[in-house]
Amino acid sequence: MIKKIEHLGIAVKNIEESNALFAQLLGTAPYKSETVEREGVITSFFQVGESKIELLQATHSDSPIAKYLEKSKEGIHHIALDVDNIEFEIARLKAAGFVLLSDEPKPGADGKKIVFLHPTSTNGVLVELCQDRE
Ligand code: ZN
Repeated sequence: MIKKIEHLGIAVKNIEESNALFAQLLGTAPYKSETVEREGVITSFFQVGESKIELLQATHSDSPIAKYLEKSKEGIHHIALDVDNIEFEIARLKAAGFVLLSDEPKPGADGKKIVFLHPTSTNGVLVELCQDRE
């Protein structure tokens, strides 16, 4: 089951500047900053009611975020859906013809296991499924 929009991911060039900007916008500091070396990103998370905003800056030029920013401006990069059983949703969506970037969930930021759906099968939107790691 898909429970809610867990967070919106926003690609930024300078996470220090964007942290300050979003802290001002949202009236709260990020509750967490975390580097996910495997994904080539520095992240920070802001709580927004029941959802979150994730800022993402590339750690190196081969990072998916660096490649994204070569083609696109800073802005919304992905939406993340909170699910209660990620393995079930992967099987369900594959059977329905969606293209997933991996067949198995991977460890992501903020204590989640995650998988991405390719934007070619989701109207151009990069969609992340995430579930809390126990
Ligand atoms: Zn995310």
